[in-house]
Amino acid sequence: MQRRCSVIMRRGLIRGVICLLLVFMLSGAAATAYAAASDAPEWIKRVDGIADDPRAEEAAKAAEELEKWRAEKAQKRVPILLYHHITNEEFSREESISLITPEDFRLHMTAIRVHFNPISLRDYYNYVMCDDGSVNIPDNPIIVTFDDGYLSNYEIAYPILKELEIPATIFVVTDTVGEIGGAGKVNHSHFTWEQAREMEASGLIEIQSHTAGHVKMSEQSRGEQIRQLRKSKYDIEKNLGHACDMIAYPFGDYTPDIKQVARDSGYKMQLLVDDKTSEEDYMVNVPSEGVENITRMTIAGSMGNVNVIDIIRKTINKKNTMMAAAAK
Ligand SMILES: [Zn+2]
Repeated sequence: MQRRCSVIMRRGLIRGVICLLLVFMLSGAAATAYAAASDAPEWIKRVDGIADDPRAEEAAKAAEELEKWRAEKAQKRVPILLYHHITNEEFSREESISLITPEDFRLHMTAIRVHFNPISLRDYYNYVMCDDGSVNIPDNPIIVTFDDGYLSNYEIAYPILKELEIPATIFVVTDTVGEIGGAGKVNHSHFTWEQAREMEASGLIEIQSHTAGHVKMSEQSRGEQIRQLRKSKYDIEKNLGHACDMIAYPFGDYTPDIKQVARDSGYKMQLLVDDKTSEEDYMVNVPSEGVENITRMTIAGSMGNVNVIDIIRKTINKKNTMMAAAAK
């Protein structure tokens, strides 16, 4: 009896030793296999000591670069120009608020091509929304926009913009797309959806909303405000096949409530100024102010061509002075 017991004990001991040996051999084999894996970096494969994790250095470098990107972003000043109709017809000084000759328009575009780096409003949106340093815009950026959707944008501005490779966003009144000037609804003809598609196909032009009927939004009922925002968005998306997520308010007329309605209707970027034409009212944009208070400088025909660059620079300086004062 005693002998049988000791035989059983001895067998158990041998089994245990074999098990231990197997575990030891297998774990060694696994470690060797891991170290030899081709996708493991060199510093892991080293067996002569623990090397510093080189990723720590890379992470420090990335953090430094992100800091630099944020500092540069804080320094960016972004003027946005606003044009309307371009015509050779005689116009009064009052009318010149929204009119400019083809010659002056070409001179403005040539001047900003030389003195600034034109970017699209979409580029600016992506830049403002980015927080990880992955999106950039050049120094001295400038943005060109048009309101209403005049045929002259297609016939006169578009060829010039193409020639000079200047992107632009056109905010259209969707109920008057394709309307003929003087026939009732509008004074000057508006381009068609077909022409809008042709301009967008160039990759330089983007069409967004200036409401459905060019109404003063603050004077409308809540229901009508929603209809203006949603109908124009629907018509743009149906006819052009891309998201309509930017709104430029007619007459720069809006309230905080309207901005909320626009937000709820799917508008991500909101542009405010339409009818401010005096230099004192001009302002430029800074990324920290977001994408729902975008301001523009209405460029009037009466300004002529020589001082546009001066006016833009003065406005940038004014913003810098204001920001420096606010920071104190
Ligand atoms: Zn307008």
